[in-house]
Amino acid sequence: MIDTHAHLDACDDRPSALIRRARSAGVERIITVGTGIDSSRAALELAELHEEVFVAVGIDPHQAGDAEANRIDELRELAEHERSVAVGETGLDYFRDRAPRDRQRRLLEAQLELAASLGKPVVIHTRDADADTADVLAGFDGAVVMHCFSSPGLLNTVLERGYYVSFAGNVTYPKASDLRATAAQVPDERILAETDSPYLAPQARRGRPNEPANVVLTVEELAKVRGVDAADLGARIEANAAAAFSLP
Ligand SMILES: [Zn+2]
Repeated sequence: MIDTHAHLDACDDRPSALIRRARSAGVERIITVGTGIDSSRAALELAELHEEVFVAVGIDPHQAGDAEANRIDELRELAEHERSVAVGETGLDYFRDRAPRDRQRRLLEAQLELAASLGKPVVIHTRDADADTADVLAGFDGAVVMHCFSSPGLLNTVLERGYYVSFAGNVTYPKASDLRATAAQVPDERILAETDSPYLAPQARRGRPNEPANVVLTVEELAKVRGVDAADLGARIEANAAAAFSLP
């Protein structure tokens, strides 16, 4: 199994312990995701130490108004690293609205350009910004992973365009019936699962820091709503992730 989105550098526990527990849960690969330059660099250092770990390098939308947004040249260097499998997370967040929206758009566009020039997929964070996210992504030709998918209204567009749809622990929450209905509609070849560790622990672990081992619980929930076997879905997701991120 694979956890397609974790922030190992933001977890309190040591990465080696998190990776060991993931392995014993059957999670053999983890994509750890940078949220800025330093975080992306730390993620790559982990990937150099642990064969289980691959990296997405990016600058998240919250920093679009800061000096961080001007570090695209540094991001390019990190994205060229052999363990970098994607650019992101990047996107638009009009819910937390921590940076001006036009700056968020510009930073997203710059990272799409970078991904396109390297032939890498992008990992997209979007919150309360469905229309603008769809609009900006329309100009991007590469593979797109919609991380922590929580935008049922965006599903049709996303499926029409062939994007990958990744579900996190929030799909297991009692109130998330709309999201579960959405998860049932994603075709087999486009579905992914993630933890977004240390955030969004699945219901059975709620209130505790999340970790990659828990992706198993999210896959179980997804299998239940899709009426399929969890091990089969885990294998399907692993194949999808290998295709989306060109994993070895
Ligand atoms: Zn994330």
